[in-house]
Amino acid sequence: ELSPEPAYLRGLNPPQREAVLTTEGPVLVLAGAGTGKTAALTARLAHLIATRRAWPSQILAVTFTNKAAREMKERVAAISGGAIEGMPWLGTFHSVAARMLRSHAELVGLQSNFTILDTDDQLRVLKQLIVAANIDEKRWPARQLAGLIDRWKNRGWTPKQVDAGESEAFAAGRGADLYAQYQERLRTLNACDFGDLLLHMLVIFRSHTDVLESYRDRFRYILVDEYQDTNQGQYEWLKLLAEPRRNLCCVGDDDQSIYSWRGAQVANILRFEKDFPGAKIVRLEQNYRSTSHILAAADGLISNNAGRLGKTLWTEAGDGQKVRVIGIWDGPEEARRIGEEIERHEARSGSLDDVAILVRAQFQTREFEERFIAIGLNYQIIGGFRFYERAEIRDAIAYLRLIVRPADDLAFERIVNTPKRGLGDKAVATIHRHARSTQQPLLVAAATILGTDELTPQARRSLGNFVADIARWREMASSLPHPELARIVLDESGYTAMLQADRSAESAGRLENLAELTRAMEEYENLGAFLEHVSLVMDNDEARQGERVTIMTIHAAKGLEFDIVYLPGWEEGVFPSQRSLDEGGLASLEEERRLAYVAITRARRKATIMHAANRRIYGQWTSSIPSRFLAELPKGHIEEETTMTGGESLWRAQWSERGDPFAHLAAAQSNRASTRGPGWQRASRGGSFNPEPQRIIEARASAVSLGNQGRSDLSV
Ligand code: ATP
Ligand code: MG
Repeated sequence: ELSPEPAYLRGLNPPQREAVLTTEGPVLVLAGAGTGKTAALTARLAHLIATRRAWPSQILAVTFTNKAAREMKERVAAISGGAIEGMPWLGTFHSVAARMLRSHAELVGLQSNFTILDTDDQLRVLKQLIVAANIDEKRWPARQLAGLIDRWKNRGWTPKQVDAGESEAFAAGRGADLYAQYQERLRTLNACDFGDLLLHMLVIFRSHTDVLESYRDRFRYILVDEYQDTNQGQYEWLKLLAEPRRNLCCVGDDDQSIYSWRGAQVANILRFEKDFPGAKIVRLEQNYRSTSHILAAADGLISNNAGRLGKTLWTEAGDGQKVRVIGIWDGPEEARRIGEEIERHEARSGSLDDVAILVRAQFQTREFEERFIAIGLNYQIIGGFRFYERAEIRDAIAYLRLIVRPADDLAFERIVNTPKRGLGDKAVATIHRHARSTQQPLLVAAATILGTDELTPQARRSLGNFVADIARWREMASSLPHPELARIVLDESGYTAMLQADRSAESAGRLENLAELTRAMEEYENLGAFLEHVSLVMDNDEARQGERVTIMTIHAAKGLEFDIVYLPGWEEGVFPSQRSLDEGGLASLEEERRLAYVAITRARRKATIMHAANRRIYGQWTSSIPSRFLAELPKGHIEEETTMTGGESLWRAQWSERGDPFAHLAAAQSNRASTRGPGWQRASRGGSFNPEPQRIIEARASAVSLGNQGRSDLSV
């Protein structure tokens, strides 16, 4: 008698079923975007529970984000009709490791109520150690050490395991020693940092076989999503846990490995078969997410990467629309255009929830946020703060507020010791006391306190400098253009230097945000008008309900899908990022290309790529070079459009002959003006910029005279 097929299997294709039903032994599902890897993994989890192969609490499932973990939990509950007894161990590597560590903290010298430090605390501890070791903190900043330690932890290295060459990277070989001191210090604080969660468990597994055995015994099945982005430490952790039973199922896509900058290793995919001999490799080829033009465009792009495992993808979803590649005049036009299209979509009673704007870098969100606020389009920013809420933006604005309004105590408090200038809690408390007793604003109280001996000489000196700086900047404010003032303040206050000293990707992003801030300021007549604008925008920030457009980075969009996807800013230096170009290596360029692949494959029905001809950088209009990735998109699957007359694909001419892409970069740079064609004229009448800077007038003049030549290039 045939029992009806369980709901979680219905609709799965044969290889997906194989991934679900091969419950025993190692399984690696290796497949492209949108082929139902996560769906199969979820069904597998449901299957293990439904067939009682294990209690939920005997299953470990690892996802890449907490959000993905929540979704999987919901999906399993829905599939199993909500009747799960107990919960599986379902979460990110970090959350699962944290849960384990609470039970075994004493084995690494912690108590079970240990605290998890945030980055600020971490930096404070490191800085103390650096100073105590008589190392020049200016030359060897705490942030750099934090980055190194994080890298070592990601590799599963304890201080003793850091090899000499690596230790060399900080303060003439003292890196490993400082790392050891840091770990010691955290222990006395009963604290650990993020990287420790996994590392401590690794150490425990390595040295306490009984603990390892107990978890090996418990976890009958282990499931891992987004496997291509696991790092060395995570891999070792998984391997230790999975080894004896070997019931490990990992799903991933080598083309979507986008976290190598955080230590992820695609090589873990290749290692799998070696470390788990006899592993069943399942390949999924049917894509259920996207229409075929979208798929083919993404596939054509990624085929430019060398050393891929390679895969075939097909879809039954029909051709659908071609991927649009739209050239527009500048950033504001990009935001305006996308805003209009989304409004039209909404007017046709489309849902805003179906629309996403995926950016390469955080700073790109500002233009969209401001536009959407202006036209009243509901949006949310995922995996990051709204532009004006970001710490570095708030800091910069606090400086400007204090310059304009000496009585702004909140601003004073925010920046009096940012960057650190030796005005700690005690000094600030003294200023507060003084301000209260004299009924003065903090800045005024600070100035008067300088004449007393209430502060230590050192604190008095820094406070004196700070007060004098603010006064000097206020003076400047009357004569300097306000974006210029902002740049000077950021430089002279040491704020820029603080971020530059730290070579992490994160602070590179912060610097970009600050550059974007000064760019935004240019759109306002004066500082007062700009600050007014900021407070209005901030006021708009209360949580909004209902449908909304999603704005997020491509990194954060991994694993997600949307009907309609906008991909703005495909220009050299934005995407691929300047950082990847500066590093120059093929590896970083290939990672950018994988990111582009992830970006396009988020779209179900409609993908639109945009590139602007101009970006305003440091008060100058600069013509941008269209991204090389545009030329790598297969012609038959894209539809080009430009809002400038002529309509030719400017970028295709620039990137047409492959070979050395950097040689073409140079060629493109010198040809740029000529290939623009007369479109410059029309767009300039569109009035999307104001006032028109000299450079553009010149460029346009040459564009007009060289227009024909530009076109003949294109017909080749
Ligand atoms: P990514 O690589 O982006 O993480 P993925 O391989 O994990 O993608 P899923 O997110 O699991 O893919 O699935 C993509 C879409 O296809 C989802 O909307 C999912 O519901 C749907 N899907 C998956 N398998 C099937 C199937 N057998 N039949 C119909 N739809 C499916
Ligand atoms: Mg997935």
